[in-house]
Amino acid sequence: MEQEKTFYERLKSKGVSRRDFMKYCTALTATMGLSASYVPKVAEVFAAPAQRPPVVWLHFGECTGCSEALLRSNYPFIDELVLEILSVEYHETIMAAAGHQAEENLHAAVKKYKGKFICVVEGAVATKYNGGYGKVAGRSFLEIAKEVVPQAAATIAIGSCAAYGGIAGADPNPGGYVGVGEAIGASTLNIPGCPPNPINLVGTVVNYLLLGKLPALDDKGRPLFAYGKTIHDQCPRRSHFENEEFVTEFGSAEAANGYCLYQVGCRGPETYNNCPVAKFNDGTSWPVEAGAPCIGCSEPKFWDTMTPFYEEM
Ligand code: SF4
Ligand code: SF4
Repeated sequence: MEQEKTFYERLKSKGVSRRDFMKYCTALTATMGLSASYVPKVAEVFAAPAQRPPVVWLHFGECTGCSEALLRSNYPFIDELVLEILSVEYHETIMAAAGHQAEENLHAAVKKYKGKFICVVEGAVATKYNGGYGKVAGRSFLEIAKEVVPQAAATIAIGSCAAYGGIAGADPNPGGYVGVGEAIGASTLNIPGCPPNPINLVGTVVNYLLLGKLPALDDKGRPLFAYGKTIHDQCPRRSHFENEEFVTEFGSAEAANGYCLYQVGCRGPETYNNCPVAKFNDGTSWPVEAGAPCIGCSEPKFWDTMTPFYEEM
């Protein structure tokens, strides 16, 4: 009880009311595909966490956009929430340590929490020339991944680069960049996107803490709760040419169809993600709603297979 009080007081001191927090928990519970009866339990995971799994967050070939998306989220407190439920032992962007001390932190965390920590990987791994295209502290990404990932309880590949190679792995890919799972022959839970929606990472971790297991995955390693349907299947623009009322409003099915962005290159029919329902920036909007066609950022090799962007396939 005291712990809960402290949590809500901490939120309040950051200008976040209990109501805002419960609103977020309601959205998160719906995103996870759980019924509304789970909302109080989801809130409890944050307010009174039974355990805080240690996390080692590795950065490889990437732009840090995935971390930025999480930490600069419009939910003013999402970074706080993540830090409430996770014990982040190593994260190059947010930790105070640098240089040799940072390296020592990494080795110490892996040793101390061997078999118990969650490894989050952001960025792709260079595989050609013995991994020579990407290094941290004189060691290749490949070497670091081979050492750290097998010692983790589970590995989450955050973003399309870590999951499938992303832009680093786009043709002609001189460094032989691939996703971390492919690089070292390990299975990973993938949360792709460029960047991914932070709510899908939070949902995965809360699923783990609440139900004691990782969520069910599709054949590309993605949580089904977030990547089980195509963008097109959930797109409100689709209704314009399938809904009689809109067809009447637009004058003809052809005119209503013009509201859809398919002819300007929307890859919604080929792309699995929950952007239309999870949305971005505190549920404000998402690319297709704002008028930009989906470019298929959560699909493997999308820089090669979905281009040229903005042209009908
Ligand atoms: S805008 Fe894209 S996702 Fe929406 S209906 Fe058209 S093709 Fe489908
Ligand atoms: S709408 Fe498409 S391109 Fe945009 S974030 Fe969602 S999956 Fe990625």
